Amino acid sequence: LVARMRPFGTTIFAEMSALAARTDSVNLGQGFPDTDGPPEMLEAAVRAIREGRNQYPPGPGIPELRAAIAAHQREFWGLGYDPDSEVLVTAGATEAIAAAVLALCESGDEVVCFEPYYDSYAASIALAGAVRRPVTLRPAPDGGYGFDPDELRAAFGPRTRVVLLNSPHNPTGKVFTADELALVASLCVEHDAVAVTDEVYEHLVFDGAHVPLAGLPGMRERTVQISSAGKTFSCTGWKVGWACGPAPLVSAVLRVKQFLTFVNAGPQQPAVAVALGLPRSYYDGFRDSLRDKRDRLCLGLSDAGFDVLRSDGTYFVTADITPLGGTDGVEFCRSLPERCGVVAVPTQVFYDDVSAGRQLIRFAFCKRDEVLDEAVARLRKLS
Ligand code: PMP
Ligand code: GLN
Repeated sequence: LVARMRPFGTTIFAEMSALAARTDSVNLGQGFPDTDGPPEMLEAAVRAIREGRNQYPPGPGIPELRAAIAAHQREFWGLGYDPDSEVLVTAGATEAIAAAVLALCESGDEVVCFEPYYDSYAASIALAGAVRRPVTLRPAPDGGYGFDPDELRAAFGPRTRVVLLNSPHNPTGKVFTADELALVASLCVEHDAVAVTDEVYEHLVFDGAHVPLAGLPGMRERTVQISSAGKTFSCTGWKVGWACGPAPLVSAVLRVKQFLTFVNAGPQQPAVAVALGLPRSYYDGFRDSLRDKRDRLCLGLSDAGFDVLRSDGTYFVTADITPLGGTDGVEFCRSLPERCGVVAVPTQVFYDDVSAGRQLIRFAFCKRDEVLDEAVARLRKLS
Protein backbone atom coordinates (compact mmCIF):
# COMPACT_ATOMS: atom_id res chain seq x y z
CA LEU A 1 0.00 0.00 0.00
CA VAL A 2 1.33 3.43 -0.89
CA ALA A 3 2.50 5.61 1.99
CA ARG A 4 -0.17 8.23 1.47
CA MET A 5 -2.93 5.66 2.14
CA ARG A 6 -1.24 3.89 5.05
CA PRO A 7 -2.79 6.07 7.75
CA PHE A 8 -6.26 5.05 6.60
CA GLY A 9 -7.68 1.83 8.03
CA THR A 10 -11.14 0.37 7.53
CA THR A 11 -13.79 3.09 7.58
CA ILE A 12 -15.54 3.48 10.90
CA PHE A 13 -18.90 2.88 9.18
CA ALA A 14 -17.92 -0.57 7.93
CA GLU A 15 -16.39 -1.45 11.31
CA MET A 16 -19.44 -0.36 13.28
CA SER A 17 -22.04 -1.91 10.97
CA ALA A 18 -20.13 -5.21 11.10
CA LEU A 19 -20.10 -4.95 14.91
CA ALA A 20 -23.85 -4.31 14.93
CA ALA A 21 -24.51 -7.37 12.77
CA ARG A 22 -22.19 -9.58 14.84
CA THR A 23 -23.76 -8.58 18.14
CA ASP A 24 -27.34 -8.25 16.87
CA SER A 25 -27.40 -4.66 18.10
CA VAL A 26 -29.64 -1.79 17.11
CA ASN A 27 -27.50 0.06 14.58
CA LEU A 28 -27.60 3.81 15.11
CA GLY A 29 -24.04 4.05 13.80
CA GLN A 30 -23.89 4.19 10.00
CA GLY A 31 -26.27 6.77 8.58
CA PHE A 32 -28.69 5.03 6.25
CA PRO A 33 -32.49 4.91 6.43
CA ASP A 34 -34.32 1.66 7.15
CA THR A 35 -37.26 2.44 4.88
CA ASP A 36 -37.41 2.90 1.11
CA GLY A 37 -37.70 6.19 -0.74
CA PRO A 38 -40.62 7.44 -2.84
CA PRO A 39 -42.50 4.64 -4.69
CA GLU A 40 -42.58 6.68 -7.93
CA MET A 41 -38.78 6.60 -7.95
CA LEU A 42 -38.56 2.87 -7.19
CA GLU A 43 -41.06 2.06 -9.93
CA ALA A 44 -39.17 4.22 -12.42
CA ALA A 45 -35.97 2.25 -11.74
CA VAL A 46 -37.73 -1.07 -12.26
CA ARG A 47 -39.28 0.27 -15.47
CA ALA A 48 -35.88 1.46 -16.70
CA ILE A 49 -34.39 -2.00 -16.14
CA ARG A 50 -37.30 -3.67 -17.92
CA GLU A 51 -37.09 -1.19 -20.78
CA GLY A 52 -33.46 -2.14 -21.32
CA ARG A 53 -31.74 1.01 -20.11
CA ASN A 54 -28.94 -1.18 -18.83
CA GLN A 55 -25.90 -0.13 -20.86
CA TYR A 56 -23.39 2.69 -20.37
CA PRO A 57 -25.15 6.01 -20.02
CA PRO A 58 -23.39 9.16 -21.32
CA GLY A 59 -20.30 10.18 -19.31
CA PRO A 60 -21.73 13.35 -17.73
CA GLY A 61 -25.04 11.61 -16.96
CA ILE A 62 -28.26 11.17 -18.95
CA PRO A 63 -29.73 14.45 -20.27
CA GLU A 64 -33.05 14.03 -18.42
CA LEU A 65 -31.27 13.71 -15.07
CA ARG A 66 -28.98 16.67 -15.74
CA ALA A 67 -32.04 18.74 -16.69
CA ALA A 68 -33.83 17.62 -13.49
CA ILE A 69 -30.79 18.54 -11.35
CA ALA A 70 -30.57 21.99 -12.99
CA ALA A 71 -34.34 22.53 -12.45
CA HIS A 72 -33.98 21.49 -8.79
CA GLN A 73 -31.08 23.91 -8.22
CA ARG A 74 -33.06 26.74 -9.78
CA GLU A 75 -36.32 25.99 -7.98
CA PHE A 76 -34.94 25.41 -4.48
CA TRP A 77 -31.81 27.57 -4.37
CA GLY A 78 -32.30 30.11 -7.14
CA LEU A 79 -29.06 28.97 -8.82
CA GLY A 80 -29.04 28.60 -12.60
CA TYR A 81 -26.80 25.95 -14.18
CA ASP A 82 -26.60 24.91 -17.82
CA PRO A 83 -27.49 21.18 -17.83
CA ASP A 84 -25.08 20.49 -20.69
CA SER A 85 -21.92 22.14 -19.43
CA GLU A 86 -22.46 22.88 -15.72
CA VAL A 87 -24.01 19.68 -14.32
CA LEU A 88 -22.24 16.36 -13.88
CA VAL A 89 -23.68 13.09 -12.54
CA THR A 90 -21.32 11.09 -10.32
CA ALA A 91 -21.18 7.85 -8.33
CA GLY A 92 -22.61 9.45 -5.21
CA ALA A 93 -21.32 12.58 -3.55
CA THR A 94 -18.24 10.57 -2.57
CA GLU A 95 -16.98 10.36 -6.14
CA ALA A 96 -17.83 14.01 -6.80
CA ILE A 97 -15.77 15.08 -3.77
CA ALA A 98 -12.82 12.86 -4.68
CA ALA A 99 -12.87 13.89 -8.35
CA ALA A 100 -13.15 17.59 -7.43
CA VAL A 101 -10.19 17.45 -5.05
CA LEU A 102 -8.12 15.40 -7.53
CA ALA A 103 -9.01 17.78 -10.35
CA LEU A 104 -8.30 21.00 -8.48
CA CYS A 105 -5.34 20.34 -6.17
CA GLU A 106 -1.72 20.12 -7.18
CA SER A 107 0.48 18.13 -4.88
CA GLY A 108 1.24 20.31 -1.85
CA ASP A 109 -1.82 22.53 -2.26
CA GLU A 110 -3.85 23.07 0.87
CA VAL A 111 -7.50 22.24 1.52
CA VAL A 112 -9.27 24.04 4.33
CA CYS A 113 -12.01 21.96 5.96
CA PHE A 114 -13.85 21.87 9.25
CA GLU A 115 -13.18 18.99 11.61
CA PRO A 116 -14.81 16.69 12.58
CA TYR A 117 -15.11 15.87 8.87
CA TYR A 118 -16.72 13.11 6.86
CA ASP A 119 -14.07 10.40 6.58
CA SER A 120 -13.64 10.40 2.81
CA TYR A 121 -12.37 14.00 2.84
CA ALA A 122 -9.01 13.21 4.39
CA ALA A 123 -8.50 10.24 2.06
CA SER A 124 -9.41 12.24 -1.06
CA ILE A 125 -7.04 15.02 -0.03
CA ALA A 126 -4.28 12.47 0.64
CA LEU A 127 -4.82 10.78 -2.73
CA ALA A 128 -4.35 14.15 -4.40
CA GLY A 129 -1.09 14.64 -2.49
CA ALA A 130 -2.66 17.77 -1.00
CA VAL A 131 -2.55 18.87 2.63
CA ARG A 132 -5.57 19.33 4.87
CA ARG A 133 -5.86 22.40 7.06
CA PRO A 134 -8.59 21.55 9.56
CA VAL A 135 -10.47 24.18 11.54
CA THR A 136 -11.93 22.72 14.72
CA LEU A 137 -15.65 22.74 15.53
CA ARG A 138 -16.25 22.50 19.27
CA PRO A 139 -19.34 22.26 21.45
CA ALA A 140 -20.45 25.87 22.01
CA PRO A 141 -22.33 27.62 24.84
CA ASP A 142 -25.51 27.70 22.68
CA GLY A 143 -25.69 23.90 22.81
CA GLY A 144 -24.53 23.45 19.21
CA TYR A 145 -21.08 23.66 17.61
CA GLY A 146 -19.00 26.71 16.82
CA PHE A 147 -15.50 27.66 15.67
CA ASP A 148 -13.04 30.45 16.26
CA PRO A 149 -13.12 32.85 13.27
CA ASP A 150 -9.44 33.62 13.80
CA GLU A 151 -8.64 29.92 13.50
CA LEU A 152 -10.45 29.90 10.15
CA ARG A 153 -8.60 33.02 8.96
CA ALA A 154 -5.29 31.49 10.04
CA ALA A 155 -5.99 28.30 8.07
CA PHE A 156 -5.85 30.23 4.81
CA GLY A 157 -2.49 30.97 3.19
CA PRO A 158 -0.64 31.17 -0.11
CA ARG A 159 -1.07 27.43 -0.80
CA THR A 160 -4.84 27.37 -0.13
CA ARG A 161 -6.51 25.97 -3.20
CA VAL A 162 -9.83 24.54 -2.00
CA VAL A 163 -12.23 25.02 0.87
CA LEU A 164 -14.29 21.91 1.48
CA LEU A 165 -17.49 22.90 3.30
CA ASN A 166 -20.21 20.53 4.49
CA SER A 167 -23.43 22.19 5.66
CA PRO A 168 -25.66 20.76 7.09
CA HIS A 169 -22.70 19.06 8.70
CA ASN A 170 -22.00 15.39 9.35
CA PRO A 171 -21.27 14.26 12.09
CA THR A 172 -22.31 17.26 14.22
CA GLY A 173 -25.73 18.22 12.81
CA LYS A 174 -24.48 21.80 12.62
CA VAL A 175 -26.04 24.14 10.07
CA PHE A 176 -23.59 26.96 9.33
CA THR A 177 -25.11 30.38 10.09
CA ALA A 178 -25.39 33.23 7.60
CA ASP A 179 -22.47 35.03 9.30
CA GLU A 180 -20.29 31.92 9.23
CA LEU A 181 -21.03 31.35 5.54
CA ALA A 182 -20.29 35.00 4.77
CA LEU A 183 -16.90 34.68 6.46
CA VAL A 184 -16.06 31.50 4.53
CA ALA A 185 -17.12 33.19 1.27
CA SER A 186 -15.11 36.33 1.89
CA LEU A 187 -11.99 34.29 2.68
CA CYS A 188 -12.47 32.24 -0.50
CA VAL A 189 -12.67 35.44 -2.54
CA GLU A 190 -9.75 37.07 -0.73
CA HIS A 191 -7.50 34.03 -1.26
CA ASP A 192 -8.87 33.12 -4.69
CA ALA A 193 -9.82 29.64 -3.46
CA VAL A 194 -12.38 27.29 -4.97
CA ALA A 195 -15.19 26.13 -2.68
CA VAL A 196 -16.27 22.52 -2.89
CA THR A 197 -19.54 22.27 -1.00
CA ASP A 198 -20.96 18.98 0.23
CA GLU A 199 -24.70 19.58 0.49
CA VAL A 200 -26.01 16.03 0.73
CA TYR A 201 -28.22 17.08 3.67
CA GLU A 202 -29.59 20.16 1.85
CA HIS A 203 -33.19 19.05 2.48
CA LEU A 204 -32.62 18.25 6.14
CA VAL A 205 -32.48 21.69 7.76
CA PHE A 206 -34.99 21.57 10.60
CA ASP A 207 -35.45 25.28 11.30
CA GLY A 208 -35.14 27.83 8.53
CA ALA A 209 -33.81 27.11 5.07
CA HIS A 210 -30.61 25.70 3.62
CA VAL A 211 -28.30 28.37 2.22
CA PRO A 212 -25.88 27.20 -0.49
CA LEU A 213 -22.49 28.91 -0.35
CA ALA A 214 -22.66 29.28 -4.15
CA GLY A 215 -25.44 31.84 -3.71
CA LEU A 216 -23.23 34.30 -1.80
CA PRO A 217 -21.57 37.24 -3.57
CA GLY A 218 -18.59 36.21 -5.67
CA MET A 219 -19.16 32.49 -5.05
CA ARG A 220 -21.17 31.20 -8.04
CA GLU A 221 -18.09 31.33 -10.28
CA ARG A 222 -15.78 29.62 -7.76
CA THR A 223 -17.97 26.88 -6.26
CA VAL A 224 -18.46 23.23 -7.10
CA GLN A 225 -21.75 22.39 -5.45
CA ILE A 226 -22.14 18.68 -4.63
CA SER A 227 -25.13 16.66 -3.56
CA SER A 228 -26.62 13.20 -3.85
CA ALA A 229 -29.92 11.36 -4.18
CA GLY A 230 -28.94 8.99 -1.38
CA LYS A 231 -30.14 11.07 1.54
CA THR A 232 -32.98 13.11 0.03
CA PHE A 233 -34.64 10.06 -1.52
CA SER A 234 -33.56 7.39 0.98
CA CYS A 235 -31.57 5.37 -1.55
CA THR A 236 -28.02 5.42 -0.19
CA GLY A 237 -27.22 2.19 -2.04
CA TRP A 238 -27.88 3.70 -5.46
CA LYS A 239 -24.87 6.00 -5.37
CA VAL A 240 -26.22 8.69 -7.66
CA GLY A 241 -24.73 12.09 -6.92
CA TRP A 242 -23.92 15.26 -8.81
CA ALA A 243 -21.71 18.30 -9.06
CA CYS A 244 -22.81 21.71 -10.36
CA GLY A 245 -20.66 24.73 -11.06
CA PRO A 246 -19.18 26.94 -13.73
CA ALA A 247 -18.24 25.03 -16.89
CA PRO A 248 -14.43 25.20 -16.46
CA LEU A 249 -14.64 23.68 -12.96
CA VAL A 250 -17.22 21.05 -13.88
CA SER A 251 -15.26 19.99 -16.96
CA ALA A 252 -12.17 19.62 -14.78
CA VAL A 253 -14.11 17.34 -12.42
CA LEU A 254 -15.41 15.35 -15.41
CA ARG A 255 -11.85 14.90 -16.69
CA VAL A 256 -11.04 12.98 -13.50
CA LYS A 257 -14.42 11.30 -13.09
CA GLN A 258 -14.19 9.65 -16.50
CA PHE A 259 -11.15 7.68 -15.34
CA LEU A 260 -12.48 6.83 -11.89
CA THR A 261 -15.80 5.28 -12.87
CA PHE A 262 -16.31 6.40 -16.51
CA VAL A 263 -20.11 6.43 -16.01
CA ASN A 264 -22.46 5.09 -13.39
CA ALA A 265 -25.86 3.73 -12.39
CA GLY A 266 -27.71 3.41 -15.70
CA PRO A 267 -31.26 2.50 -14.62
CA GLN A 268 -31.12 4.61 -11.46
CA GLN A 269 -30.52 7.83 -13.36
CA PRO A 270 -33.99 8.16 -14.95
CA ALA A 271 -35.47 7.18 -11.60
CA VAL A 272 -33.64 9.95 -9.74
CA ALA A 273 -34.83 12.38 -12.43
CA VAL A 274 -38.40 11.35 -11.53
CA ALA A 275 -37.69 11.82 -7.81
CA LEU A 276 -36.21 15.30 -8.29
CA GLY A 277 -39.46 16.31 -9.96
CA LEU A 278 -41.64 15.31 -6.98
CA PRO A 279 -43.80 18.12 -5.56
CA ARG A 280 -42.65 20.24 -2.62
CA SER A 281 -44.92 18.25 -0.33
CA TYR A 282 -42.52 15.30 -0.66
CA TYR A 283 -39.54 17.37 0.48
CA ASP A 284 -41.53 18.99 3.31
CA GLY A 285 -42.83 15.64 4.51
CA PHE A 286 -39.35 14.12 4.42
CA ARG A 287 -37.88 16.96 6.50
CA ASP A 288 -40.78 16.98 8.98
CA SER A 289 -40.50 13.24 9.48
CA LEU A 290 -36.77 13.47 10.21
CA ARG A 291 -37.34 16.42 12.56
CA ASP A 292 -39.79 14.26 14.55
CA LYS A 293 -37.24 11.47 14.66
CA ARG A 294 -34.56 13.88 15.87
CA ASP A 295 -36.85 15.03 18.68
CA ARG A 296 -37.79 11.47 19.57
CA LEU A 297 -34.20 10.28 19.83
CA CYS A 298 -32.91 13.42 21.58
CA LEU A 299 -35.54 13.12 24.27
CA GLY A 300 -34.74 9.43 24.72
CA LEU A 301 -30.99 10.04 24.91
CA SER A 302 -31.50 12.72 27.58
CA ASP A 303 -33.73 10.36 29.54
CA ALA A 304 -31.04 7.71 29.28
CA GLY A 305 -28.58 10.11 30.92
CA PHE A 306 -26.56 11.58 28.04
CA ASP A 307 -25.87 15.26 27.56
CA VAL A 308 -27.36 15.85 24.12
CA LEU A 309 -26.01 18.55 21.82
CA ARG A 310 -28.23 20.51 19.45
CA SER A 311 -28.75 19.07 15.98
CA ASP A 312 -30.16 21.56 13.46
CA GLY A 313 -29.90 19.33 10.41
CA THR A 314 -28.75 16.00 8.88
CA TYR A 315 -29.49 12.49 10.14
CA PHE A 316 -27.28 12.84 13.21
CA VAL A 317 -27.06 14.06 16.78
CA THR A 318 -24.09 14.14 19.15
CA ALA A 319 -24.21 12.97 22.75
CA ASP A 320 -21.66 13.63 25.45
CA ILE A 321 -20.90 10.47 27.45
CA THR A 322 -19.44 12.24 30.51
CA PRO A 323 -22.62 12.05 32.65
CA LEU A 324 -22.62 8.26 32.16
CA GLY A 325 -19.06 8.00 33.42
CA GLY A 326 -17.53 7.69 29.94
CA THR A 327 -14.30 9.47 29.07
CA ASP A 328 -13.35 8.02 25.70
CA GLY A 329 -15.92 7.65 22.89
CA VAL A 330 -13.98 4.92 21.09
CA GLU A 331 -13.91 2.70 24.17
CA PHE A 332 -17.51 3.56 24.95
CA CYS A 333 -18.75 2.67 21.44
CA ARG A 334 -16.69 -0.55 21.34
CA SER A 335 -18.25 -1.77 24.59
CA LEU A 336 -21.79 -0.46 24.01
CA PRO A 337 -23.02 -3.48 21.99
CA GLU A 338 -22.03 -5.84 24.78
CA ARG A 339 -23.35 -3.59 27.53
CA CYS A 340 -26.75 -2.90 26.00
CA GLY A 341 -27.00 -3.93 22.33
CA VAL A 342 -26.73 -0.52 20.64
CA VAL A 343 -24.19 0.76 18.11
CA ALA A 344 -23.11 4.42 17.82
CA VAL A 345 -20.05 6.04 16.25
CA PRO A 346 -17.29 7.83 18.20
CA THR A 347 -17.03 11.42 16.97
CA GLN A 348 -13.30 11.61 17.69
CA VAL A 349 -12.46 9.48 14.65
CA PHE A 350 -13.57 12.41 12.49
CA TYR A 351 -11.16 14.82 14.19
CA ASP A 352 -7.42 15.25 13.58
CA ASP A 353 -7.36 16.82 17.03
CA VAL A 354 -8.70 13.74 18.83
CA SER A 355 -8.91 15.56 22.17
CA ALA A 356 -11.58 17.88 20.78
CA GLY A 357 -14.09 15.06 20.41
CA ARG A 358 -12.94 12.45 22.90
CA GLN A 359 -16.13 12.31 24.97
CA LEU A 360 -18.56 12.75 22.05
CA ILE A 361 -20.43 10.04 20.17
CA ARG A 362 -22.79 10.24 17.19
CA PHE A 363 -26.20 8.63 16.87
CA ALA A 364 -28.15 8.36 13.58
CA PHE A 365 -31.91 8.96 13.87
CA CYS A 366 -32.88 8.06 10.26
CA LYS A 367 -34.60 4.90 11.51
CA ARG A 368 -38.17 3.70 12.08
CA ASP A 369 -39.72 5.01 15.29
CA GLU A 370 -39.88 1.53 16.81
CA VAL A 371 -36.16 1.08 16.17
CA LEU A 372 -35.36 4.40 17.87
CA ASP A 373 -37.60 3.43 20.80
CA GLU A 374 -35.92 0.06 21.15
CA ALA A 375 -32.49 1.71 21.12
CA VAL A 376 -33.56 4.13 23.84
CA ALA A 377 -35.06 1.34 25.96
CA ARG A 378 -31.74 -0.49 25.76
CA LEU A 379 -29.66 2.63 26.49
CA ARG A 380 -31.71 3.37 29.61
CA LYS A 381 -30.18 0.26 31.15
CA LEU A 382 -26.81 2.04 31.25
CA SER A 383 -27.65 4.36 34.13
N1 PMP B 1 -20.87 13.60 2.42
C1 PMP B 1 -21.45 13.46 3.62
C2 PMP B 1 -21.38 14.59 4.59
C3 PMP B 1 -22.10 12.29 3.95
O1 PMP B 1 -22.66 12.14 5.16
C4 PMP B 1 -22.13 11.25 3.02
C5 PMP B 1 -22.73 9.95 3.46
N2 PMP B 1 -23.60 9.46 2.81
C6 PMP B 1 -21.54 11.44 1.77
C7 PMP B 1 -20.91 12.62 1.52
C8 PMP B 1 -21.52 10.39 0.72
O2 PMP B 1 -22.62 10.44 -0.10
P1 PMP B 1 -22.86 9.34 -1.22
O3 PMP B 1 -23.37 8.13 -0.56
O4 PMP B 1 -23.82 9.98 -2.14
O5 PMP B 1 -21.55 9.09 -1.89
N1 GLN C 1 -22.87 9.09 5.46
C1 GLN C 1 -23.16 7.98 6.29
C2 GLN C 1 -22.60 8.23 7.67
O1 GLN C 1 -21.97 9.21 7.91
C3 GLN C 1 -22.65 6.66 5.75
C4 GLN C 1 -21.38 6.77 5.06
C5 GLN C 1 -20.66 5.49 4.76
O2 GLN C 1 -21.08 4.43 5.13
N2 GLN C 1 -19.57 5.64 4.11
O3 GLN C 1 -22.85 7.44 8.54
